[in-house]
Amino acid sequence: MNLDLVSPPPAWTERAACSAHYGDRWYPEHGHRAIHGKRTCFSCPVVEQCREYGMDEFWGTWGGLTGKERRALGRGRGRRGIDFDIPEADR
Ligand code: SF4
Repeated sequence: MNLDLVSPPPAWTERAACSAHYGDRWYPEHGHRAIHGKRTCFSCPVVEQCREYGMDEFWGTWGGLTGKERRALGRGRGRRGIDFDIPEADR
């Protein structure tokens, strides 16, 4: 058995604001809004690390961005220093 296939989570996840919450907020069902998870992301101390880590993920909300939002930003373009572009009404 090769145990190297499973990497430990990055150290920053120990400070993640979502660690005390139920995960469905960051993986809403189709047609449901991601704002409940995003509200936690806005005050998360590791939002930048999470956003960068999640840029290659298809599903879920990472660093306050949904998969659709990440894909709209484009791969390898402006990946650092991205501002949240969320309507005030959704915050
Ligand atoms: S930014 Fe959001 S998804 Fe990422 S660790 Fe923080 S609370 Fe969790």
